[in-house]
Amino acid sequence: MSVTAAATRPSAVGLGMPQVPRTRRSRAEVEAAAPVTGPKRVMLAAPRGYCAGVDRAVVAVEKALEHHGAPVYVRKEIVHNRHVVDTLTERGVVFVDELDQVPDGALTVFSAHGVSPAVVAEAAERNLETIDATCPLVTKVHREAVRFARQDKHILLIGHEGHEEVEGTYGEAPEHTTVINDVAEARTVQVDDPDNLIWLSQTTLSVDEALEIVAVLRERFPNLQDPPSDDICYATSNRQAAIKLISPECDLVIIVGSANSSNSVRLKEVAFEYGATRAERVDFASQIDEAWFEGVATVGLSSGASVPEVLVQDVLALLADYGYAQVDEVVTAEEDIIFSLPKELRAELKKAGDESRSLGGRRRDAEA
Ligand code: SF4
Repeated sequence: MSVTAAATRPSAVGLGMPQVPRTRRSRAEVEAAAPVTGPKRVMLAAPRGYCAGVDRAVVAVEKALEHHGAPVYVRKEIVHNRHVVDTLTERGVVFVDELDQVPDGALTVFSAHGVSPAVVAEAAERNLETIDATCPLVTKVHREAVRFARQDKHILLIGHEGHEEVEGTYGEAPEHTTVINDVAEARTVQVDDPDNLIWLSQTTLSVDEALEIVAVLRERFPNLQDPPSDDICYATSNRQAAIKLISPECDLVIIVGSANSSNSVRLKEVAFEYGATRAERVDFASQIDEAWFEGVATVGLSSGASVPEVLVQDVLALLADYGYAQVDEVVTAEEDIIFSLPKELRAELKKAGDESRSLGGRRRDAEA
């Protein structure tokens, strides 16, 4: 997998502003309801927000729009974020659930979560021009599934049934794969040959929960084989590690991210498990309920891997309005991974003399 050098401009999606109106009580009213003892502050987790796979997928759609013009069809949400999807829709992207909603021959982008070989075959049959924006780290798991199925192993795929990524990975080797949703399923799953098993996982799980599931499986199947490397990706692990560090000190943790974003939902769960008194997830600052601030001295803040930084900045502005003007950023890892654009697009951009490559929402502060 290749890694490219730096970018030239931020993504338009990363710079767009949410269109949701904000209504709220005054700071005085909130404070009167439950006075805060101690200084008010924000612990801002880092890393947070856009990962390399999301940046690549969003930029791929933007480049497709620039070079092909609208409409560009995208199968499923390109990434699981309401703001990103709404902004791209306004610019002429048509999101569809299945390929039968795409006109013959139209340009279609596969989302960052990946697709099964059956979807690729259907696209070819329909003569669709495609750009595969599957995150390279998801593709890695697909390749593992294919390899282990060829070795006639049975794969226990830890992940959430119905999630697009799990559907795609499962589709690589359905006869050789059983999906394990949770600890309860790990306790009851039946297999033909307990000595011929390997586990793989969705990339955006809770690290702790996945380890617990593996421990249960290993207790039942001592010869269970580990994957060659971690399937839970660096971005998921890093965001969870940062939240684990700040949560014990937080009265309230706010996670910016959409309800269908697996890694965002996991961040909220992890915050609560690691000691935050309260943890909430919002798409936009306007969804924050000011009653959450009653009696709160320290607010933790982070965002999922598909969230543009502008949405976090919007929350920080709201928090400042409520007296949480002191912001301490807690950095637990540095990330500098950038994936090159999908190969179909690279070839086309090269032909058109377009060598630019934007960084989405991730480097917004640095570029501002
Ligand atoms: S969360 Fe991880 S696997 Fe998913 S797109 Fe980002 S880097 Fe890729």
